[in-house]
Amino acid sequence: MDVIRQRYFAPAAMLPEGWARDVMLEVDAAGMITGVTPDFSGERSRDAITLDGALLPGMPNVHSHAFQRAMAGTTERAGPRSDNFWTWREQMYRFLDVLTPDDIEAIASFLYVEMLESGYTSVAEFHYLHHAPDGSAYVDRAETARRIATSAEISGIGLTLLPVLYQHSGFDRQGPSRGQRRFVHDIDSYARLVSDCASAFPPRVRLGIAPHSLRAVGAAGMKELESLAQSLPADAPWHIHAAEQEQEVLDCLQATGERPVQWLLNHAGVDARWCIVHATHMTGAESAALALSGAVAGVCPSTEADLGDGLFDAEGFLGNHGLIGLGGDSHVAVDPFFELALFEYGQRLTQRRRNLSAVPTGASTGESLYRRALTGGARALAQPVGALAPGYRADGIVLDPDDASLCGRKAEDLLDAAIFSPRHRPVKDVMVAGRWQVKDGRHVHHAEIKARYRAVIARVLGGR
Ligand SMILES: [Zn+2]
Repeated sequence: MDVIRQRYFAPAAMLPEGWARDVMLEVDAAGMITGVTPDFSGERSRDAITLDGALLPGMPNVHSHAFQRAMAGTTERAGPRSDNFWTWREQMYRFLDVLTPDDIEAIASFLYVEMLESGYTSVAEFHYLHHAPDGSAYVDRAETARRIATSAEISGIGLTLLPVLYQHSGFDRQGPSRGQRRFVHDIDSYARLVSDCASAFPPRVRLGIAPHSLRAVGAAGMKELESLAQSLPADAPWHIHAAEQEQEVLDCLQATGERPVQWLLNHAGVDARWCIVHATHMTGAESAALALSGAVAGVCPSTEADLGDGLFDAEGFLGNHGLIGLGGDSHVAVDPFFELALFEYGQRLTQRRRNLSAVPTGASTGESLYRRALTGGARALAQPVGALAPGYRADGIVLDPDDASLCGRKAEDLLDAAIFSPRHRPVKDVMVAGRWQVKDGRHVHHAEIKARYRAVIARVLGGR
């Protein structure tokens, strides 16, 4: 029998079957939900904590490059020629040239604090910054991966760590450029990295496999990864960047005769273990087949807008019951509510219609989007999160009833208000595995983690 550690009483809570009133939630000592009782009318024991507002499941963030948080806003000056994803990438490479493992830990810790304060309670870190700036391996080859796990520990966010395999700089198997030296592994050193991570990290850190992209890992590398994955649990997640840029689609077509998503569907056994990050440029057939495969499309609306990637085919993909997860990616925004608004607004602007993500007719667009991203996010992270139900981790956010956009709303309208209204700080309190990490909008260790972050930024960006 699980021992109940804590009871929480929520005036309203978003449960899998819909909104409920007067919900009593029971959480065990391991932080897992053991009981959910709607319309609770019994006597409340004195130790039950009454929440100040409506309770939602916390949002998983399916795609993060934590170090990029520190360069957000530094690449917005026009270059001598038209700026695009590829010129941004050069700036990113120059930036990461100066980062030490300690810097990576400081930046990731503060990013995770910001994520928690905005309502993300778990993250999949797509981690490719493996080596020293000159490309040499650290004595501990899992040094930087360990720093990411430490950042998750310090901040209290749930973590799925995805060590990334990056072999080549292009489809013709060119060696890495100078800026890519910190990423590169051959299959043997990558296998040792994964094995070191598997033995070093506690069981609550989920480990997955992440070929960076088809341009960085070719067909042979993908095959080798399949054998390597045998050493991990059969349901370990697989994440890959695909079809973010039109040039990448053209290069893939030229090299393989197939488009990236098409190639993955035909040759990589894409199924519900997979998260295809971006999947921006798909044909209708690719979009439908990807939806049917059970894979999650990891959409990153603010980064895709920032980099001028293009727009995801929401109508085709969602129309085929495809699952999306929300990625923060380069972290030009750290706010799941903003990401969902941007996702829907992009569709409205191109389709010239409204409420494209709502299912069925008359449903709340905000709630439909939030629920889709919860389900897809939990699948992509391969963690028992994303629902307030027995057997799930007690990851929850309490909405602020005093927020000007939320006050006076019915529970059923709260997500529309939080997503499609002026945002101040709709999230008041946040718990991960039953522990409060954010109270009154602020992370419990905000001040010291931010002070460390500021010191790193002052050094690497030269600010005062
Ligand atoms: Zn990415």
